[in-house]
Amino acid sequence: MKKQALVIGLGFAGSVVSRILADSGYDVIALEKRAHIAGNMFEYERSNGVRVHLYGPHIFHTNNEAVFSFLNRFSGFYPYSHRVIGKIDNQLVPIPFNFTSIDRLFSKDIATVYKTKLSKAFDLESRVTISDLFDTQDPDIRDLANFVLQKVFVNYSAKQWGVPFDQLDSTVTSRVPVVIGEDDRYFSDKIQMMPLLGFTDLFERLLNHPNIAVNLNSESNRRIRLHPDSGKVLLDGIPFSGPVCYTGPIDELFDYSLGALPYRTTEFVFEDYDVNCLQCTPVINYPNEEKYTRISEFKHITLQEVPDKTTILKEYPMPYHYGSNMIPLYPIQNPDNKRKYEDYLRLGKSYSDLFFCGRLAEYKYYNMDAVVARAMQVADDILSTPKYD
Ligand SMILES: Cc1cc2nc3c(=O)[nH]c(=O)nc-3n(C[C@H](O)[C@H](O)[C@H](O)COP(=O)(O)OP(=O)(O)OC[C@H]3O[C@@H](n4cnc5c(N)ncnc54)[C@H](O)[C@@H]3O)c2cc1C
Repeated sequence: MKKQALVIGLGFAGSVVSRILADSGYDVIALEKRAHIAGNMFEYERSNGVRVHLYGPHIFHTNNEAVFSFLNRFSGFYPYSHRVIGKIDNQLVPIPFNFTSIDRLFSKDIATVYKTKLSKAFDLESRVTISDLFDTQDPDIRDLANFVLQKVFVNYSAKQWGVPFDQLDSTVTSRVPVVIGEDDRYFSDKIQMMPLLGFTDLFERLLNHPNIAVNLNSESNRRIRLHPDSGKVLLDGIPFSGPVCYTGPIDELFDYSLGALPYRTTEFVFEDYDVNCLQCTPVINYPNEEKYTRISEFKHITLQEVPDKTTILKEYPMPYHYGSNMIPLYPIQNPDNKRKYEDYLRLGKSYSDLFFCGRLAEYKYYNMDAVVARAMQVADDILSTPKYD
């Protein structure tokens, strides 16, 4: 009998696990509830010829060479260093905040004081957090830290997370640094590349394997059930004998029996224009007055040549309501939610064939490279489990 595996969800987590198991001889039944593969990385071409990311701009960056070399099997890549501008005090300045941002927002004398003191306190070209700035105890650096906090983070966080900045988990607050120098790249990773023909094309190749059966429009709760007495996962009512990799929301798998895990979501509003470019830069962040957090113009990310046409995306963050058509995007990290997640995970441990992987199943914000690395590890765990030999 051929070995079988069941994978739920075809974002990076499920697709990478499917591919590695298929390469190792497993027949993989993959269930995806949406009408398309690629999860939140899904890209498509609009009628004006501009390719967009349906669930917000996704920029690939990593220091993990094993992840990049795995993905290179399925796509070529072009170099792309992401740059973000922020509208602050009616000026457009680089984000992360850097020396150019300081020059644009302060008088020459004050800017010189800030830059000189920062260069003495930290290594040039390093990236530090707001807390590092506050920790210096220098009154000028602390003034600058306070300015950046108020103008770049406070309102942005309130919009994005719906809570005041000081209630956010440090994993969120440490994500956007301040740059000691003029480097205006959004990320500092060694590898900053985008798939040549887009993410959907990469996923098509990743899943293009004779051992993988992709089932779209297949919400798992219509096909699988948990059977607590036997500790088995049932597929269409029959105990499934191989490994099951679940990448959907963990609370949904257990019918929200311990309560729903909260998320933030975003309304994505696309607008097409008959001009060559509108904002003429990949992303502008709006940390303050506007209701949206950022506007992306995809041509500057995909580097497509589409004369006299462009598409932009505005992102409006909002709370996620489970049971609605909304998509759970950002897990809300706090101690209560972490505890609830751990309780769900304990329930999951009674099913020895069940493996959890990814943003929703692990209730954790993963960048794409981190989720690919995690999926490679889960596939390895499955393959090294003696009972699946
Ligand atoms: C707006 C936004 C921007 C981002 N930008 C970046 C970026 O620039 N760079 C970066 O590295 N990362 C970025 N990320 C993170 C990136 O999206 C995640 O790393 C990635 O989506 C995680 O992959 P995943 O497979 O865990 O989850 P997903 O991509 O969400 O895939 C899960 C899949 O499971 C399916 N599913 C769920 N429940 C079920 C079910 N019951 N039955 C069947 N199928 C189910 C879903 O439909 C989905 O296709 C961004 C995230 C967001 C929200």
